[in-house]
Amino acid sequence: MARIERGSRYTILNTDDELKRTLLLIEAAGRTCYRSEVEGKITYESASKFARMLIKRGHESVLEHGGMAVKFTGSRGYSHEQVRHRVGVAYSQESTRYVDYTKGGRMDLDDFEIGVILPPHRNIDELVSLPDGRELSPIDMANELEVYYRALRQSGWLPEDARQFLPIGLETNIVVTANWRQWRHMIEERAAKPAHWEIRSVYGKLLVNLQSVVPALFEDFEQKGVDINGLPYYGLVDRRTLVNE
Ligand SMILES: Cc1cc2nc3c(=O)[nH]c(=O)nc-3n(C[C@H](O)[C@H](O)[C@H](O)COP(=O)(O)OP(=O)(O)OC[C@H]3O[C@@H](n4cnc5c(N)ncnc54)[C@H](O)[C@@H]3O)c2cc1C
Repeated sequence: MARIERGSRYTILNTDDELKRTLLLIEAAGRTCYRSEVEGKITYESASKFARMLIKRGHESVLEHGGMAVKFTGSRGYSHEQVRHRVGVAYSQESTRYVDYTKGGRMDLDDFEIGVILPPHRNIDELVSLPDGRELSPIDMANELEVYYRALRQSGWLPEDARQFLPIGLETNIVVTANWRQWRHMIEERAAKPAHWEIRSVYGKLLVNLQSVVPALFEDFEQKGVDINGLPYYGLVDRRTLVNE
């Protein structure tokens, strides 16, 4: 049976403390520009204030001195959108050529599953009529794809050949490491209203989390509304309205 998931999820691979410490490095680097370094005086509070100043002035290149790594579990559709971001990012993604869709990494073709990400806002039990008279629900279809992949493998097809029949909703794991400037850019594009629901949903949750861990870097984003499926979308506030501390 295919394992059905209703959207992407993420795990930040750095600790909260590591994320906060990146701000100290940003202040140390940024003060070099202004020749305003004061030995031993940088604290998390001073660094937060410094980061706010950089963002208000649009001096975001200094934010490239810090960043984080996030592991996303989402569909191949999501990961394709993710890897379009090229600048200041490193990726490591699960292979469909070398990873067989076997449970727990075991090569048992009678006992394996594929994970499929389906829209949380659709009824996945709904029966859909096919021209040949069959009625299949989205869950039935995911199971059919798994059955066919297994049959191909059992008849001797290698994973790199059988993968051609796996769906765009196939679950994948990808680790994304980027600097803060690029995370801000990716969140601006991907948590916004025009983005696809899957990436928008996971980026929205990531944003809200980051706003509580490193607020100085993300507090200039706000929720702008909710879409027809009840999912929130986000955008930047007007930079001129930011408080100049
Ligand atoms: C809602 C939405 C719909 C989309 N639809 C499509 C689609 O239909 N088809 C499609 O192909 N793509 C589509 N995309 C992907 C989009 O075109 C970008 O490839 C993707 O969003 C990556 O963003 P980026 O170009 O900012 O790249 P990043 O790698 O994130 O780059 C960051 C920034 O660096 C600068 N930069 C990067 N590369 C260069 C360069 N070569 N030269 C100069 N400056 C550069 C730019 O300022 C850029 O914004 C869509 C994206 C979104 C958000």
